[in-house]
Amino acid sequence: MTAPSTGFRRALGILTIILAGACRPAEQAPAGGDVPSAGLAAIDTAGLMAHIRVLAHDSLLGRAPGSLGEDRTVAYLESQFRALGLAPGNPDGSYIQKVPLVGITVQGAPAMTFRKGGTSRALTWRDDYVAWTKHVAERASLDNSELVFVGYGVEAPEFQWDDIKGADLAGKTLVMLVNDPPLADTARFGGARMTYYGRWTYKYEQGMKHKAAGVLIVHETQPAGYPFAVVQGKTAEQFDLVTPDKNMSRSAVEGWITLDQAKALFAMAGQDFDALKAKAATPEFAPVSLGVTASVTLTNTLRTVDSRNVAAVLPGSDPARAGEYLIYSAHWDHFGVGEPVNGDSIYNGALDNATGTAGLLVLAKAFKAAPPPRSILFLAVTAEEQGLLGSAYYAVAPLYPLAKTVANINMDGLNQWGPTRDLTVIGLGASELDDVASAAAAEVGRTLRPDPEPEKGYYYRSDHFNFAKVGVPAFYAGDGVDYIGKDPQYGMQKREAYVADDYHKPQDEIKPDWIMTGAVDDLKLLMTIGYRVATVARWPEWRPGNEFRAAREASLAASR
Ligand SMILES: [Zn+2]
Repeated sequence: MTAPSTGFRRALGILTIILAGACRPAEQAPAGGDVPSAGLAAIDTAGLMAHIRVLAHDSLLGRAPGSLGEDRTVAYLESQFRALGLAPGNPDGSYIQKVPLVGITVQGAPAMTFRKGGTSRALTWRDDYVAWTKHVAERASLDNSELVFVGYGVEAPEFQWDDIKGADLAGKTLVMLVNDPPLADTARFGGARMTYYGRWTYKYEQGMKHKAAGVLIVHETQPAGYPFAVVQGKTAEQFDLVTPDKNMSRSAVEGWITLDQAKALFAMAGQDFDALKAKAATPEFAPVSLGVTASVTLTNTLRTVDSRNVAAVLPGSDPARAGEYLIYSAHWDHFGVGEPVNGDSIYNGALDNATGTAGLLVLAKAFKAAPPPRSILFLAVTAEEQGLLGSAYYAVAPLYPLAKTVANINMDGLNQWGPTRDLTVIGLGASELDDVASAAAAEVGRTLRPDPEPEKGYYYRSDHFNFAKVGVPAFYAGDGVDYIGKDPQYGMQKREAYVADDYHKPQDEIKPDWIMTGAVDDLKLLMTIGYRVATVARWPEWRPGNEFRAAREASLAASR
């Protein structure tokens, strides 16, 4: 039998859904109506590339929060939403949600010094270590703070794992390993998939919890998931949400040291890094004081800026359900103008995330031509590169009640290398949104696949995570890896090359080999998923046992 035609496949798909409807088990997500073709037809490569060219252009200066690049980016997004005839997304009548940020920049190139008795070792700024403070203060320092190796620094009762063993770490500087302990026992820590315990943000949160003066993570490319060059980007201005008490309760100095410096430090302490690292991967591990102290003074310039989330709304076509919202999100920000690499200092962020932001505008145009019963909020968030700050702010100050928010669909990097047979879903298995997605994918002869790089912790590395944390079912798709007409390794090879050469570098620019037809396929799929979620009677839910389900139940209960 030849490959079935699209019309037949669609009929088959709907038939499957109806049949599934008849005998679907309780947790199977309901499927909604069909997307008017006028909507899908509005999604094309020309429209998508036109937006990407503007957003990734040097004139937007790498779209840093609190910069002229922000002003130009926000003006562009607002003008596009207005031109599409979408309503202001902020109930105050504007397209803007102000996000109060504090920007902290370390001055000069301070050296960090390790001392033991009469011997000392100076670490060079940027080459041997990077550091910053989240303290809103002109000075932050470590003053002969005792260095303590705490392994992975994880306290995970559900995995019977405790690296701290009750140690008093107040005032100390913690030396930590990134990612989860690499255990053969996949029941613990989710096997290859990085859990939140492996994420660098968790490591600094542990420092805050234990009142440590400093936290230094040892950078290793494989467990970190990117080269040290990416970490060096953190010597530029660092932003944080203005939450004074939280800012000040964090460790004064947070940073990374290179693997070579870590090995030299352990040798200085009379210890062997590899031996202690192996020990850290056992449940018996306990903190080891290195008998060496750390000293550094960071002199900071501070500024507060109101960065901006840009929001536009398409009111639902059904008055009875227009008060319920689906949120499409994408971060518009990137790193701005910074340390030059190969003579280029503008961090254009073409893939990351001019593509996703352009996708948001293209979907806005498409939905305008095919408005579903529920309302859709198109949300371009700021400061994702600074720690998912724009979406974190939205989650605590939502423009529409979270209990009226059906779901979030996030875009961060669209496929620029051609059509694929599959679509990667980060966190596949978390919610019933996957059912809507897999049905929609099947209709166009595609399949969903789990994240091919679960050890990299992508679930924690984009804005959907903040929606998930407040219980809103969130869907985050990445490019497929099974490229049509390419050999099986092609997809992963392109990914690895991107991470090594372009990720968070000025070289993340539009390339001659970009083919956006794959991204157009993906956007049509994301539209179909969203259209059905904005139509279906019963709201898609988190799977039973999912870590975010409780937050959802609580927010829905609180709204009743
Ligand atoms: Zn991004």
